[in-house]
Amino acid sequence: MQDTLSQPGNPFAVPGHWYKAALHTHTSLSDGLRSPEEVAAWYRDHGFQVLALTDHNLCAEVDGLTGPGFLAIPGAELHPGRTELGEPYHLVAVGIGRPHAYTAQDSVQDAIDALRADGAVVWLAHPYWLGVTLPEIVALRGIIGVEVYNATCEEYAKGLSIVHWDDVLARRRLCWGLAVDDAHWYRSDHGRGWVMVRAPELTVDAILRALAAGHFYASQGPEIHAVEVTSEAIYVRCSPACRISCVSLCGYGGPAAVPGPGEPLTEAVFPRRQMRVYVRVECTDAAGRAAWSQPIMID
Ligand SMILES: [Zn+2]
Ligand SMILES: [Zn+2]
Repeated sequence: MQDTLSQPGNPFAVPGHWYKAALHTHTSLSDGLRSPEEVAAWYRDHGFQVLALTDHNLCAEVDGLTGPGFLAIPGAELHPGRTELGEPYHLVAVGIGRPHAYTAQDSVQDAIDALRADGAVVWLAHPYWLGVTLPEIVALRGIIGVEVYNATCEEYAKGLSIVHWDDVLARRRLCWGLAVDDAHWYRSDHGRGWVMVRAPELTVDAILRALAAGHFYASQGPEIHAVEVTSEAIYVRCSPACRISCVSLCGYGGPAAVPGPGEPLTEAVFPRRQMRVYVRVECTDAAGRAAWSQPIMID
């Protein structure tokens, strides 16, 4: 079996630079507290290089927010159709070229198709908080993934959607995982979830391409430095962790690596033979914050 280093979903196997990105953020143009300029200043001053403004049902003007080493991308959070529970879908679209707005009468799939035709990258926001079912997620065509962590939804104890993600992957559907703030600025909901994007340059086109290809990982704090998948093993390097896990189908993943007495845990190796369908890596630090690699399909 060939090594899978060149597969989609492995940003550690492609050349480029790392960019810290906040991809789901609200401003006072919809239901956020701070202005677009204040929001951009906060992220720029806190080490981010990419910011997507994603106000509800509108596409903010971002041209004046981009500067040296900092890229603002136009986006929106859109609410077409209704879920089985009668709630509007929450889609995040970045790279939007023109305004879009949808209502309950619109088909969620038609909305995704139109946004993609317009050049946008689209994903499903906060599945746990939204209460969407697995069949509803699997039915969506053309989204790049789901938010596995949403800091604002965590205020309601529904920030993590790991189970939704693994359930989709178990059906052999490639699905990237994103971490986002979904900041509204009324609480401490900023700087808590982001993605690290591997791209050749800091341009809208390069960032969108990298997101679509899965050339990024999601984090609440830890850094992942390497993920290599060979025919024999999955090798991981990361910032100091208290647990490194390799997750696969059902119970086929490896038991977590934990530090030895007095030793920092910064790498782990998992035998490939026990994995099925997909592998993804989670690194958790002493504060309980996690980083999630993208899944790599292995059979
Ligand atoms: Zn939402
Ligand atoms: Zn939102």
